[in-house]
Amino acid sequence: MSSDYEFIDHTYDVVVVGAGGAGLRATLGLAEAGLETACITKVFPTRSHTVAAQGGISAALGNMGEDDWRWHMYDTVKGSDWLGDQDAIEYMCKEAPAAVIELEHYGVPFSRTEDGRIYQRPFGGMSTHFGKGTAQRTCAAADRTGHAMLHTLYQQSLRRDATFFIEYFAIDLIMDDEGVCRGVVALDLAEGKLHRYRAQSVILATGGYGRAYFSCTSAHTCTGDGNAMVLRAGLPLQDMEFVQFHPTGIYGAGCLITEGVRGEGGFLTNSDNERFMERYAPNAKDLASRDVVSRSMTIEIREGRGIGEHNDHLHLNLQHLGADVIEERLPGIAETAKIFAGVDVTREPIPVLPTVHYNMGGIPTNYHGEVITRDGGGDRVVQGLMAAGEAACVSVHGANRLGSNSLLDLVVFGRAVGQRCRDTLTAGAKQPALPAGAGQQSVERLDKLRNASGGRSTAEIRLDMQKCMQEHAAVFRTGDLLEEGLDKLRGIHASFADVSVADRSLIWNTDLVETLELENLLDQAMATICNAEHRKESRGAQAREDYPDRDDQEWMKHILTWVDNGRVRFDYRPVQLDTLTDDVEAIPPKQRVY
Ligand SMILES: Cc1cc2nc3c(=O)[nH]c(=O)nc-3n(C[C@H](O)[C@H](O)[C@H](O)COP(=O)(O)OP(=O)(O)OC[C@H]3O[C@@H](n4cnc5c(N)ncnc54)[C@H](O)[C@@H]3O)c2cc1C
Repeated sequence: MSSDYEFIDHTYDVVVVGAGGAGLRATLGLAEAGLETACITKVFPTRSHTVAAQGGISAALGNMGEDDWRWHMYDTVKGSDWLGDQDAIEYMCKEAPAAVIELEHYGVPFSRTEDGRIYQRPFGGMSTHFGKGTAQRTCAAADRTGHAMLHTLYQQSLRRDATFFIEYFAIDLIMDDEGVCRGVVALDLAEGKLHRYRAQSVILATGGYGRAYFSCTSAHTCTGDGNAMVLRAGLPLQDMEFVQFHPTGIYGAGCLITEGVRGEGGFLTNSDNERFMERYAPNAKDLASRDVVSRSMTIEIREGRGIGEHNDHLHLNLQHLGADVIEERLPGIAETAKIFAGVDVTREPIPVLPTVHYNMGGIPTNYHGEVITRDGGGDRVVQGLMAAGEAACVSVHGANRLGSNSLLDLVVFGRAVGQRCRDTLTAGAKQPALPAGAGQQSVERLDKLRNASGGRSTAEIRLDMQKCMQEHAAVFRTGDLLEEGLDKLRGIHASFADVSVADRSLIWNTDLVETLELENLLDQAMATICNAEHRKESRGAQAREDYPDRDDQEWMKHILTWVDNGRVRFDYRPVQLDTLTDDVEAIPPKQRVY
């Protein structure tokens, strides 16, 4: 081991990596269950990306009209373009009302109806009576729902004595020879010291990897570190080709304008001032599913009906809602539009463009949150390792996530993870010693990067990767475009060997952390583009112009992807088309129209 690093060792029952909505909900449940719990996070908990979630969290509470969790399940299966696992979707939609009421009791300050119940707004793809009516299912705390949730969950976790390691950067999992996860290694960013955590279970809740792309609504911290840790542990990621483009990122800035704006009555127009979504989705119109709206917008722009000097964006109109509604329901949006587009939303439309927003793919898990791999032709649970939130692929979102189903995913599966650990682990149980050489891999990586003095800066390589992904793996894809992108990305991936970390006089510096993050992003970009090339059909967020139809015969399956030193290997898992219980019937595949 390098002389600069000595491990500081810890033992906990459970270690959660990540303090966003998923990590905090898991931490809270684990601490409540009496398990000694550590939560490691690279940013202060309430700065986690969940803080940015605006529109709300779905649950069939029925506060604003008829609703039923079975309708929610139908919408989610249809939204997923039949790639979501129906057992997990049933579990999520059925558990949703209880999970949201629980949040209310923990103290989330939801907006209210006249009679004091939780306010719910319409969101894209959310219907009643199995697609016939429009549901008002998304529970909102104005347009700051994620912010309200994070603060509440953090306070509740502190109340239950969970231990937080804040501004600690998790680097690698500690796996033993049997493939069991025994712990995790993290770098204390303030002191540059390495910590080794031993635990009965490690839970990855490290969020998505939006920063693999040039234009995204995600924070700079969204680098999918947990996903990359899983790849380095020799485990696969699932369905990485499915990257959601949100229809309404602010043109030029990428900041999100929530779908809640369209839920409140906002609509899109083109250069002819036409409400063009009426042509593409005659029933749902502007509230069609996100992949449908993003593709329609891209077609409008391609066909010359874009707005602005370069005809390259569209308008989102909410002026007609009136200043009072905007101030009460969408105050954050008014502020964001003013700052990032210079627009007064009570008078002018917001210039918008589809922007990378969410990763449907990630670490494969079952609905308890246990990580799954595949060998010998069957699924195997990876002992000691769990995942939740955007990092995980349960898979409840399949090929396309419905708006407001992510916050739900965080709390339902964050909670499920806590329950599973409560039922399967014993507080204070004696743990085996860490395997010989535990953490050595992280030391070697750090030493190598700290001394990296090649010819390319981290920022240069990152920009190349982001531009490549934006150009070659965006809303519409073709085999040629993807292969060209893959060629480029292989070169960019290889060029990481020539990276230079700026200030080598320090044991750590932000450049070192950004370089670790870049290394993580590169593997995920590789998985994404390889999967997109491999899947020869169009389904949900994967729109192949050379394979325009969904092919259930060949491709109704999850793709598992291993990435090892830039080399990629695939396997497949069947989609779970059966429900978990007899409370609901399975939803057979059909054409997806809105
Ligand atoms: C602008 C915006 C608005 C959105 N609005 C909505 C909405 O209204 N409704 C909805 O359902 N969804 C919404 N989403 C999606 C949703 O917010 C995210 O999918 C969700 O918040 C992800 O939560 P998470 O807990 O999985 O991860 P995050 O909130 O991203 O948290 C990740 C955590 O992991 C930690 N971490 C990461 N890497 C490391 C590491 N190496 N070491 C230590 N810690 C690490 C971070 O510090 C952080 O605490 C929105 C997304 C965006 C971008």
